[in-house]
Parts: sequence; structure tokens; C-alpha cells
Amino acid sequence: MTTQDTPIKQTATGDPVLPELRVNLVRPTDPVIGRVVTNELCTKGGRKASGFVRHVAIDVSGTPLEAGFVTGQSFGVLPPGEDDKGRPHKLRLYSIASPTRGEDGQGKVLATSVKRVLDEHWENQTLFRGVCSNYLCDAQVGDEIRVTGPSGKRFVLPADPSAHDYVFFATGTGIAPFRGMIIDLLESGVNSKVTLVMGVPYSTDLLYDDDLRALEAKHENFRYVTAISREPQADTPKKLYVQDRITNDPLGDGAGSLPASLACERTLIYVCGLAGMELGIFRGIYEALGRDGAAPLITVDDEIAGDPSSWNRRMINRQIKTSKRVFLEVY
Ligand code: NAP
Repeated sequence: MTTQDTPIKQTATGDPVLPELRVNLVRPTDPVIGRVVTNELCTKGGRKASGFVRHVAIDVSGTPLEAGFVTGQSFGVLPPGEDDKGRPHKLRLYSIASPTRGEDGQGKVLATSVKRVLDEHWENQTLFRGVCSNYLCDAQVGDEIRVTGPSGKRFVLPADPSAHDYVFFATGTGIAPFRGMIIDLLESGVNSKVTLVMGVPYSTDLLYDDDLRALEAKHENFRYVTAISREPQADTPKKLYVQDRITNDPLGDGAGSLPASLACERTLIYVCGLAGMELGIFRGIYEALGRDGAAPLITVDDEIAGDPSSWNRRMINRQIKTSKRVFLEVY
């Protein structure tokens, strides 16, 4: 069942109703074979890029995954080979970056955004190569990949996309699920306001940047805002994290600005990327809207209500509660 096929329901409170979704059509014990059809850089590259991120598209036609996923879900990849204990490598999950119609328009090709993991072993400072990220980044067109899925029912668009406006906050490869969601929303023709706030270290790290700018030029209801953390921005000399855009919006707090969107009762907020960003976003919302204004999104224990600058990650589960209008997927 796709988002579009789902019967439309709406709660009296305005909370989003999520579609019923199928998961685990293909299990890790019995993976299917997909074939790589595209493998290309999805950053602009350049001297200052903080890493290599590739758009890897896999043809899953003829398998239960064909037209069996919606954007926001994940799929699994089983890399070949064994770990250092001689056991087969475990399944890795990747966010589907494609719209629900797939890359091809028929749900036969799904894609993800993969960052090569290259690091040092902390014990002996030898090179560490991420097993599956490098496997996917090195894959050639035509290569066979063992895939599973889909998984995830919670981090998806609501059953009735027209009932809401949307603010997406992404850092780095956290853009993956939002690429598909934004294409789904804009292609469905809804009038909902859609804002993407995208954070990366350098402007050369912006993922799918040309595509997103083209979508912004084409769709009046889509706004694309960047937050570059290690360079001045085009509109301000400051270095910014995504949450800093709440108070450094070129539109101020006027119509269509982030403060105005966050204050709107129709708005759903989706956050994907680095763990840590959600705390900054909660703080930004609270500082911009005040305790009462923020309450439809986050509620805060009396004990910490006075001073958002003192909030820390430990408080997220115990003292800061998100409403059903906030969707988080951070690692
Ligand atoms: P990246 O290119 O390094 O960009 C991350 C950006 O976030 C940088 O500009 C960084 O700034 C900034 N940042 C650091 N701390 C922050 C904070 N507390 N608040 C706000 N921004 C902050 O990102 P990446 O290497 O692709 O990593 C993306 C993360 O997303 C990974 O952890 C990945 O696992 C996760 N991810 C999750 C999903 C999912 O859940 N479905 C999908 C894809 C990716 P500085 O470095 O300059 O400080």
C-alpha cells in the first residue's frame, strides 16, 4: 500500500495520522538480488568537501520490493564476506532516498545516499574502512546486491499530506529520506508549505543541491534553506547549524519564515541526521516560541523550563517530551 492508496483519516486534534505500511516483505534470511543502475557523487565535491557521498540506485524489479516501499522507509543491504570473527557480515539499513514512485516512476528502482566511512582504529591507528558503505560506494553499474526490507512505519509522511505543512531539518546524509518525501509532496500537487533546512560543514558538501534549487524554483510552496557550519553564509557572515536558522532566517519572523512555520498548528517537523541536532532544534523552538507557543511541539518539565541553554541530551527522554507532530530519526 502506498501513502496515496491509504484511506484518509484525520484526528480531531490535528495530530497526523500515519498510513498503514507493509514491512519485511524480504527478510535477511532470504534476501533478494537487486542490480546497481546508478552510482554517482551527490555532492558538488571540491577541495573542502568533508566526505564522499554517493547516490546509489538499485533495480529491485521482479522482487517483493518492487512498488513495495514508501519514501521514509529503509531497506537492508547484506554485504558479502565475513567479519574478523569469521561470521557473515550483518545487515546494514539505509534510508530510501527515492520518492515512493521510485527513481524510475514505477517503484522498480530505489536509491540511497551513502557516505564512505574511512577512519582510524582508535586502538592502533590503522585505517578503518566501513564495510558496507565502501562496498556500496565501490559498486559498479550492473553489480548484484543482496537486499531486504522495507523497514520502518513511523518516519513517513502522514496519510493525508494536504492536512499539514512541513519543516524538515537535515544534517549531512540525513537528507536521504527528505529527498523522497519532498518529491512526493511537491509532485502530489498539495498546497502545503514545505521548508527544508539543510546543514553541512562546507557548501561543497550540500547533497542534491542543484536538484533542490530546481525544485525551489519550480514550486512556490517549497523553500530550501542552508546552514553551513564551517563557512560564512551567503546572507550572513556567521557559521550556522540548522537550529541557528530559526533565529537567522533571511525572512526574519515574517510570513513563510521558520518561526512563523514552527508556530503554525498545521506544521509537522521532521529531524534526521546527527544525534545532538534535536536538542539544538528543541532549544531553538522554545526560544523562538516561548513555553506556551512551543507546547504543541515540545513540553518541558518545570525543573528545566527556565533556562533552555542548560538543557543536555540526557534530558531529552526524561524532561523534554515531543508531541505527535515531531518526527525524529537521529544517529
Ligand atoms: P556531515 O556531512 O558531517 O554534516 C553534519 C553537519 O551537522 C555538520 O555541518 C556539523 O557541523 C553539524 N552538526 C554537528 N553537531 C551538530 C549539532 N549538535 N546540531 C546541529 N548540527 C550539528 O554529516 P554526516 O557525516 O553525513 O552524518 C549524518 C548523520 O545522519 C549520521 O550520523 C548518519 O548516521 C545519520 N543519518 C541518519 C539517517 C536515518 O536515521 N534514517 C539517514 C541518513 C543519515 P560541524 O561538523 O562543523 O560541527
